Amino acid sequence: MQQTEKNAILKNEQERMRLMLEAVPLCCNLWDTSYNNIDCNQEAVTLFELKDKQEYLNRFFDLSPEYQPDGRLSSEKATEKIREAFDMGRSRFEWMHCKLNGEPVPSEITLVRVEYDDGYLVAGYTRDLREIKAAEAEANKATEQMRIMFDAVPLCCNLWDTNHNNIDCNQEAVTLFELKDKQEYLDRFFDLSPEYQPDGRLSSEKAGEMISRAFDTGCARFEWMHQKLNGEPVPSEITLVRVKHETGYVVAGYTRDLREIKAAEAEANKATEQMRIMFDAVPLCCNLWDTNHNNIDCNQEAVTLFELKDKQEYLDRFFDLSPEYQPDGRLSSEKAGEMISRAFDTGWVRFEWMHQKLNGEPVPPEITLVRVKHETGYAVAGYTLDLREIKWTVSRLNKMEQLAFTDAVTGIANRYHFMDNAQKAFINLPPGRAVSIMMIDLDHFKNVNDTYGHTTGDVILKSVAGKIQDTLRESDFLARYGGEEFIVIVDDVNEDMIGRLAERLRSAVSEAPFDAADTSIPVTISIGAAIRKDPLQTLEELIEQADSALYKAKAKGRNRVEML
Ligand code: GH3
Ligand code: MG
Ligand code: MG
Repeated sequence: MQQTEKNAILKNEQERMRLMLEAVPLCCNLWDTSYNNIDCNQEAVTLFELKDKQEYLNRFFDLSPEYQPDGRLSSEKATEKIREAFDMGRSRFEWMHCKLNGEPVPSEITLVRVEYDDGYLVAGYTRDLREIKAAEAEANKATEQMRIMFDAVPLCCNLWDTNHNNIDCNQEAVTLFELKDKQEYLDRFFDLSPEYQPDGRLSSEKAGEMISRAFDTGCARFEWMHQKLNGEPVPSEITLVRVKHETGYVVAGYTRDLREIKAAEAEANKATEQMRIMFDAVPLCCNLWDTNHNNIDCNQEAVTLFELKDKQEYLDRFFDLSPEYQPDGRLSSEKAGEMISRAFDTGWVRFEWMHQKLNGEPVPPEITLVRVKHETGYAVAGYTLDLREIKWTVSRLNKMEQLAFTDAVTGIANRYHFMDNAQKAFINLPPGRAVSIMMIDLDHFKNVNDTYGHTTGDVILKSVAGKIQDTLRESDFLARYGGEEFIVIVDDVNEDMIGRLAERLRSAVSEAPFDAADTSIPVTISIGAAIRKDPLQTLEELIEQADSALYKAKAKGRNRVEML
């Protein structure tokens, strides 16, 4: 081959090389064996914002700071790296470049030895790392922020790798277990749980299973009994979450300290338990209605009152504990619904109700329904007060009162009741108002007894009392004073009126036939009346006067009225 031809081919080759060098999007240059920078491409000019290639070649040593970040002289280190490339064929390292204005250009430089004209050159490729470095700095900042957040999070956090090694934790983990530092947490992690969990399982076994489950399914949440190094229990809730980490996965563990919650729970349970004890002990049948009018709870007294087996029977058979209709004729179910609704609406309702035992025996209670807060809403508490005992007590009291105030033979007031009433009337008497006492005695009553017997005498006595009572006005007060003697206090009268009234009584008795022992027995009475004229006169004095008048009537022949 002719030299000129050879030269032409070489020239072509060089031309192609140049084209490629120019096209490469990477700053390239060439070093000769004397460490001279002999050529570069356009990208080199662009990267360092230079005028032209010549400026790059001339000012190359101004395109690096005097020292590299590792503290070495840039000129010295550059020479060493170029020599290394000539010797070894290749060298790659990080380099700190800078623009002429001093702006740093962190770079990765690859030096490659290339054959040239029977000798060697070193080609340098400079990769601009500014973007990568900036991204790295961002990433570092983000990691740092992550770390800060990780440490600050008020939740004990740790990380498990696929070999179930505990590889990292945050500051809260150290704080929660009162440890020296994170290393102690990582080193002594297995001393931070008792050997067995409350469910009887080996802690190590259960932990392994839970971590595996988190790796498999992505998440696991469970309660765990931890402990401090001194053995103090730390009940916890643990959430394990699978997260991407580097090229694979880790499991992040979040440990929530349940001690406070558990303590609060125990308190609440205790309170509920106390409530329940009180609820059960209260001597009043209680139950609870929800907003759907379901009977959801009751106390022991409810069971006792209706003579049931247990609370469940009360709840199940509640609607058998009322007759179909209430005494007012309304359907029990309808009225009950209305009352419960009213309690929900107005907060309170009280009414009488007819209940029954399962055997049909009636139980007439008074029911009070009260709206109460219950869980997140409201319920209505029902209090069923058994009125049977109260009603019986009241009726007995009434009877006792009646017995205490009433004369058993005649059914009218007794002497004690009369005196009590009359004293009050005397005290409350308006000034100037006249009051009168009449004493009434049956004439020759001994004869009646002697003739017909004492029992018939009693019947007559009662009939005469009834006749006198019927003849008196509503406001006059009649009582049996003793034996066959009656007393009347008459309010707001004058002498004339009392005379007429007494006469009316006398004739009413004498004209009436009193039937007893299959015969008609005539009875007459004598009456002595006295009117109080002196406001200082006492009841006893007035009675004495009336008694004297009566004595006079008897003396004058009986069946007559005398006044004093
Ligand atoms: P008089 O008053 O007109 O002088 O004659 P008397 O026969 O009514 O005499 P007195 O008033 O002294 O007698 C009362 C009699 O009344 C005596 C007793 O037999 C009778 N007596 C008193 N209390 C009762 C009673 O609760 N039941 C009956 N059956 N008789 C009574
Ligand atoms: Mg008499
Ligand atoms: Mg008498």
